[in-house]
Amino acid sequence: MIARPTTVLLTGATGYIASHTWLALLAAGLEVVGVDDFSNSSPEVLNRLRRLSGREPAFERADVGDAAALDAVFRRHRVDACVHFAAFKAVGESTSQPLAYYRNNLGGLLNVCQAMLRHGSTRFVFSSSATVYGEPESLPLREDARLMATNPYGQTKLMGEQILRDLGAAEPLWQTAILRYFNPVGAHESGLMGEDPRGTPNNLMPYVAQVAVGRRDALTVFGNDYPTPDGTGVRDYIHVVDLAEGHVAALHRLLASPGSLTVNLGTGRGYSVLEVVAAYAQASGREVPYRIAARRPGDVAACYADPGRARELLGWQAQHDLARMCADSWRWQSLNPQGFEAS
Ligand code: NAD
Repeated sequence: MIARPTTVLLTGATGYIASHTWLALLAAGLEVVGVDDFSNSSPEVLNRLRRLSGREPAFERADVGDAAALDAVFRRHRVDACVHFAAFKAVGESTSQPLAYYRNNLGGLLNVCQAMLRHGSTRFVFSSSATVYGEPESLPLREDARLMATNPYGQTKLMGEQILRDLGAAEPLWQTAILRYFNPVGAHESGLMGEDPRGTPNNLMPYVAQVAVGRRDALTVFGNDYPTPDGTGVRDYIHVVDLAEGHVAALHRLLASPGSLTVNLGTGRGYSVLEVVAAYAQASGREVPYRIAARRPGDVAACYADPGRARELLGWQAQHDLARMCADSWRWQSLNPQGFEAS
């Protein structure tokens, strides 16, 4: 008998992290069925995936909150596991539109889990976030650190994790890998895929990229009086391709052994805002002007992972350094100054 390749349902498939994960899954010999409603991504991603993989992407346009649409996807494809990325992710917007965030992030999660159970699929990888640690009590952050949310977006991740733990306790065959991402940055080395935020970027590196390419005048640095070496905030930036490989490793683990797991996906190394600015200027050969402003409410001084458990359980560890993250981000940004939509 010829073994059928494992098929992975990827929700939020044309988004930033999922699109890189799609390529990593194909490269690992897994089949992928992508689902997205394009609420925060472009159909052009599918063209890029076609070029990079040399294959026709299996894709269904659907809202994961639509139970009938999901059922149709499950009827058309035999799904062995799901990597669930689909969610809204803007912290500020979650504070002004909490119901939209709870509905999309938790309603979508419930719907996908229910569809999986209906169709006999029990392996689930969940996009969680370091935001579930709130204000760190000590660093580096281990998975058993205190959990707290400081905004509705963070609540959806905390509650999502809890829902999956409860489901695992109720369903003996159910397996979850909760992956807590630190700060994903960078782009595919081809320059064909990367992060394409709509409107003003909420995260540092895409903002710096848009300053370097001339789309924005200057970066605003929120606070230079934190208790960090240069006074600016320190974060654990992780190359999106390393993050994508972390998903492949988590899936392999779920397929190979029973049980569930929760791991940090970070490098374990923090960089300050000014270190990122300097590294980006170096990678791009452009100046990155910046001005200092007051601290932003809710920002913590420093946040970085203890990546030990991921190394132990998944045999995974990040490979790319900050220079590489900036070089790949810049290649993407300079080849696609207006992102996907302009192509
Ligand atoms: P993204 O916005 O680029 O990708 C999310 C994708 O989900 C988008 O393509 C969007 O169109 C799609 N989507 C949203 N709601 C949907 C729905 N109801 N039905 C179908 N598709 C839907 O974001 P990303 O940065 O790639 O993040 C992916 C996941 O990782 C999210 O769950 C996010 O919360 C989580 N995460 C991201 C970061 C980060 O800094 N980027 C950090 C930690 C966790």
